[in-house]
This record gives sequence, C-alpha cells and structure tokens, in this order.
Amino acid sequence: MRQSQLFTKTRKEAPADEVSKNAQLLIRAGFIHKEMAGVYTYLPLGLRVLDKINNIIRQEINAIGGQEVFLTSLQDKSVWEKTGRWSDEVVDNWFKTELKSGTELGLGFTHEEPLTALMKNHINSYKDLPQYVYQIQTKFRNEMRSKSGIMRCREFLMKDLYSFSRSEKELDDFYEKSKIAYTNIFNRCGLGDRTYITFASGGTFSKYSHEFQTVSEAGEDLIYIDKEKKLAVNKEVLNDEVLNDLGLKRKNLIEEKAIEVGNIFKQKTKFSEPLGLKFIDEDGKEKPVIMGAYGIGPGRIMGTIVELHNDDNGIIWPEEVAPFAVHLISLAREDVEVKKADEIYEKLQSQCMEVLYDDRQGVQAGKKFADGDLIGIPKRIIVSSKTLEKNSVEVKMRNQDESNLINLDNI
Ligand code: ATP
Ligand code: MG
Repeated sequence: MRQSQLFTKTRKEAPADEVSKNAQLLIRAGFIHKEMAGVYTYLPLGLRVLDKINNIIRQEINAIGGQEVFLTSLQDKSVWEKTGRWSDEVVDNWFKTELKSGTELGLGFTHEEPLTALMKNHINSYKDLPQYVYQIQTKFRNEMRSKSGIMRCREFLMKDLYSFSRSEKELDDFYEKSKIAYTNIFNRCGLGDRTYITFASGGTFSKYSHEFQTVSEAGEDLIYIDKEKKLAVNKEVLNDEVLNDLGLKRKNLIEEKAIEVGNIFKQKTKFSEPLGLKFIDEDGKEKPVIMGAYGIGPGRIMGTIVELHNDDNGIIWPEEVAPFAVHLISLAREDVEVKKADEIYEKLQSQCMEVLYDDRQGVQAGKKFADGDLIGIPKRIIVSSKTLEKNSVEVKMRNQDESNLINLDNI
C-alpha cells in the first residue's frame, strides 16, 4: 500500500470526549472512526488488524474442530421467549426493533437461542454428535457505560463458539481443549504473558465459568492472581469456600485490574432443555444435548493490545497482528532515488511482504517518522540519499532505538 494513496491521515488530537487510551491512539493513527459513544467504524488500517485477529481465532478454533457459520442479527422473539430471555427484566441490554407490521424483533446480543433451535434440524442421533459451531459476527448490546473505547461497544464483533456434546465427559474434554486454543490465541496476539485463566461465576448450571483476564490499568474487572500457579479468581466469586475449593491461599494472591478478553462456560442443558434439542443415545434413550459456550471479543482484543503495547509516541503492534509487516519510509527526493525506493518496495512485495510504503512527496522526514511511530508497524526500513550512497537501507524496530544498515542486495 502506498501511503500517498491511503485516504486516512494521522491526527494530532483525538476527540475531546474520548477518554480511553486505546481509542485515542487508534483514532489519531487513523485505524478507527468514532460514530458515537461505544460505536466505532474500522478504517483500512484498523480493518487489517481486526482481520488478522479474526484469522488467528479462526485458525485456532478450526484446529479444535470448529465449523464456521454466520447467523442473523435480526432475531425472532418466539425463540427467546422459550428460555425467558426476551424479557427486558431478565436481559437489560436488548436492542429491539419491529417490522412495519408491528411484529417485534431483537438485534442479537448473543446467539445461544437461535443456534440451539437451528441445530434441531441437524442433530437426531448420538451419531450426529459432537459438533462445534462458531461464528465471528456483530452483537448489539445496550451497554450502560461505554468509556473503554473499542473494548466496550454497543455494536461489536464477537467470536462465539458453541459445543454440542453427548455427555458431560465429552463437554469437559472439549472445554479443556478450548482453554489451550484460547491460550494460543492470546499468545499470538501478544497478550500471553499478562493473561490469566480466571475462575468466575458459573451460573446455575455449573460451579465455575472461566474468564481470560488480561492485567491492565484500563480493566473494568478486579481479579486476584496466584502468579506461581498462573491462575486467578474474579472478585465476584472470591470467598473462603472458593479459595479452599481451588487450593489457593489469600496471602499468595495479588489484586489487579484486568480486561475480560474471553470467557468459556459450561451451559449443560440450560438451552437444550427449553428449546428441545435432544438426541437418541446408543442405549435408545432420548437425552438433552449437553452444551458449552465460548466467547472472545476481537475488537476488545485489539483495544487491549493497544492498551498494553504503546509508548509516548504511539502504538507498537506485536508482529502477528500488525497492519503491515514493514513500514518502508522513503526520504528520497531525486528521481533516481525515488526509482530506487520504488524498486525496493516492489522487491519486498514480490517476496509476499506486507508493506506500507511512505512514498509521500513534500512531507518532512520528522513528520514521516512521527507518523510511523504513531501507526506502530513493528519493523521500519528507511531509504534516503544517505543510505543509498552506501547502497543500503536502514532497518529499525519500532521498540528499539538502534538501527542497522543493510545492503540492498541482502534485503
Ligand atoms: P463483560 O463482562 O465485559 O460485560 P460479558 O461477560 O457480558 O462481558 P460475553 O457475553 O461472554 O461477555 O461475551 C464474550 C466476549 O465478548 C467477552 O469476553 C469480550 O471479549 C467480548 N465482549 C463482551 N461485551 C463486549 C462489548 N460490549 N464490547 C466489546 N467486546 C465485548
Ligand atoms: Mg463477563
């Protein structure tokens, strides 16, 4: 991508009402646009990052047997009435709308109900199980507060995976696999060393659920971490009985603010019973399908990455999620130098490198470097008359001060 053609420009200031660090930096660098509180548009650079995160999620979820679908946002009220979740007293964050005829519809805040109902068309016998179905799709939630930038939106992407099993044992096995997949995802997104599997409330059907909590000052949750065991407990369930249960000692736990980047939940028959999702087992008996749900917020991951990986000058993307692998900054002025810089750009591209090429003419070197720091691509290649005199380019990492000269033949 030639930067001269990128329609977004960097900005000195974020909107005055934007209080979160992640949105401030992402808006200034041209990754996102704020439509209104809790509602953000992804611009070309931002969409590249989001797609990378989504693809990491896809790879890891496909690797444990996930099959991707894309359900609808518009939701049929009658399905939700079966589980009691249509009621605004039970679910306080519904966005609802209606057809011209007056028929009420909901905008999905999650998809247990419609997917469970849908799977009735496909599951009859034990031979049809287990199944693992997921999507990366927009959710709508009328959140009370939305001051955490892209980490708490009223319209946001969620990867939601649902497991359909024959027995609790089969559910437990997949649940453990999902923990490994989630750990891989957060590692690859550069959040690994600060993310803890955290015991949280399990609702009525199971003792605990597990949250993946990333330690950050920007977090809205409080967790208590045992660093040695690499485990944590959410404040909402912290009590003597739970500590005892988990073999943890209060004095070994440290309190930290954290961001819930994902969570996994054993729902068992909570949805299959009321919606009638059953199967005939090997013994000829009809049984309810045993379910689990596994959520991740790709946008929240992106916001968390920015909260963790930045300095005074801007964002520092981890390699796997960076919008481009290389930021090629050209300070070339003379035609022959520009031609050389173009050749380097083409050479990198021919090697399947994703390159943002700052080919802008009439922009000062200082401004180009400042933009590069703000945008945060981890590797920078600078080409100028000085480097070309030595038949070289200068290579510098975003998070390091020193740079190296590399001969053009060795790029
Ligand atoms: P929270 O406790 O933060 O409100 P939740 O427990 O309601 O989230 P789930 O419904 O389980 O979250 O959603 C799964 C994942 O979706 C969360 O772990 C988070 O990564 C993401 N997510 C949830 N709500 C939002 C939101 N409002 N904006 C962006 N991402 C969200
Ligand atoms: Mg939660």
